[in-house]
Amino acid sequence: MQALIVEPGRPHSARVEEVPAPAPASGSVLLRPLEVGICGTDREIAEGLFGIAPEGSDRLVLGHEVLARVEEDAESFSRGDLVAATVRRSCGRCEACVQGSPDACATGLYLERGITRLDGFAAELVTEAADQLIPVPQALGRLGVLAEPASICERALRHVRAIGGRQPWAPLRALVLGAGAIGMLATYLLRLEGLEVWTAARGPADGRKGELVAASGARYVSVADTAPAALAEETGGFDVVIEAAGDAQVMLDAIGHLRRNGVACLLGIDGRPRRVSIDGRVIAQDAVVENRVLFGSVNAHRVDWQAAVNDLDRARERWPQALEAFVGLRVPLDRFEDAFAYRGVKATLLLESA
Ligand code: BGC
Repeated sequence: MQALIVEPGRPHSARVEEVPAPAPASGSVLLRPLEVGICGTDREIAEGLFGIAPEGSDRLVLGHEVLARVEEDAESFSRGDLVAATVRRSCGRCEACVQGSPDACATGLYLERGITRLDGFAAELVTEAADQLIPVPQALGRLGVLAEPASICERALRHVRAIGGRQPWAPLRALVLGAGAIGMLATYLLRLEGLEVWTAARGPADGRKGELVAASGARYVSVADTAPAALAEETGGFDVVIEAAGDAQVMLDAIGHLRRNGVACLLGIDGRPRRVSIDGRVIAQDAVVENRVLFGSVNAHRVDWQAAVNDLDRARERWPQALEAFVGLRVPLDRFEDAFAYRGVKATLLLESA
């Protein structure tokens, strides 16, 4: 069968190749991936900057954002069910992993499908342990491919609520930095929560991303016109900032956009070696006297996956056309380069049509 593989560490090694079909094992479910989303992590792996092949191999099957159909009845699943699958697997050693929270793994020895030491889902057939599958309601359909990036946002927001809620807190205003899939999904999830949302990104105010932001009732701001700092000044500062821009300076600046008791969560990654700076008063005065918090978040717990699927379905009911427009490009496996080059909200590899 065909799969999209890469040799981790070797730039431009991504290619479609024949690989052996998976052997069903006890406790696992045979799946036919329908769509696999492409994100910045896949691009980094394809550029040779990230990713580790499974032990004993020099190749890794890519793809960690999957919507799949159950191929054969197994465990509690029936043929035809739609499912997504979690990404990270326990290190088996630390307390977090033992408690079922590999998203908080303390050793860093976790495995991740399509990223770290486990093959991913960009293949004609895959198997997955039943307890790593997340049922996707039929009504959500193809939008289930957004479950993985939405789970990342749900984890971030769950932690924002936990941190903000450590003291009396009634958040009203949120700022999202970046309008890729994570920024766009965070915008919609914050709107579902009833917050007033500003989403700031590089694209022009009258572009497609601006329209999608506006469709949720949030305000799109082009950073070419208004810098986030000016926006914070104008609005009086934000209770919540979600950073999804992947620029170290933008990430550090996030703490400056908060108002009293505000919480900022960093979701982007920027591996470029460089120094970034901030006005000393922001970190050593405002952050302290205003109880501000800046934290990072990665991956997602099973509860976040469940919340992701539920909230995507709520968002679909409320903004059906906008949600459908999130995936702007669907290409067959052999056109993976087009998916990697896509700069809209989300591109997917289409393994099987409806
Ligand atoms: C994935 C996460 C993963 C992270 C680090 C992200 O693209 O969405 O599930 O933990 O990469 O590997």
